[in-house]
Amino acid sequence: MSDQLYHECHEVIAQGKAILEDLQQWGFETVQPLGIDSRREEVPVIAESAAASYDKKAVPPVVEKATQPTSLADLQATLVNCDRCPLCQQRNNIVFGAGHPQARVVLVGEAPGREEDLQGYPFVGEAGKLLEKILLAMNLSREMVYICNVIKCRPPGNRDPHPDEIAACEPFLKQQLTSINPEIIITLGRFAAQTLLKTTTPVGKLRGRWYEYEGIALMPTFHPAYLLRNPSGKRPVWEDMKQVMQRLESQER
Ligand code: URA
Repeated sequence: MSDQLYHECHEVIAQGKAILEDLQQWGFETVQPLGIDSRREEVPVIAESAAASYDKKAVPPVVEKATQPTSLADLQATLVNCDRCPLCQQRNNIVFGAGHPQARVVLVGEAPGREEDLQGYPFVGEAGKLLEKILLAMNLSREMVYICNVIKCRPPGNRDPHPDEIAACEPFLKQQLTSINPEIIITLGRFAAQTLLKTTTPVGKLRGRWYEYEGIALMPTFHPAYLLRNPSGKRPVWEDMKQVMQRLESQER
């Protein structure tokens, strides 16, 4: 083995170890069954069925863009230069959403933060890093799911979105969900759950149970930014995600 290959292998192994240690630290008690060795035995159905069905649906986005009037691309185009609410005045970028246009799972957050506003992509800051870890533990990746927010422009200073801002943006979220037609929606935090479920019930009471949004199964859970401040929320989130994994495993489409 060449020195370079040796060092590359070493680095990959070290990175993998660091991720597993990180997940364990986060309180993912099932990190062992989802670990490299036991994955083959314990979770092959989820891993293989998810991968297989994504392969089947690997329609190049360009085809979808060209032929479907309500495609995500068309929808995104209608938002360019959007001035439907005052948030347009301070934004750097509209954060439309990113991921697989036919994802089985859509994750809906609240609104872009500073990093997201600068880069134009959802969940690319600290909360996004944690979200990626959660997805990894579920055997998913950003590319396999679709991630978006209720609000597409950053509220100044990351303040809570105002009701009129939510009302202005909600039709676009609805159309994104219609276009993707996922099997499962995961709402992250209060605003996504309360907006889609039309309720004022706190997310702590909503989470962990299945709801329906326009015929699509919806699982509310805590927002990753909340988990960064309240580590005790990680365990319940993992319980919620286990339910999502079980559902994905049980329903192939
Ligand atoms: N928080 C959110 O709700 N959405 C993002 O895109 C980033 C942080």
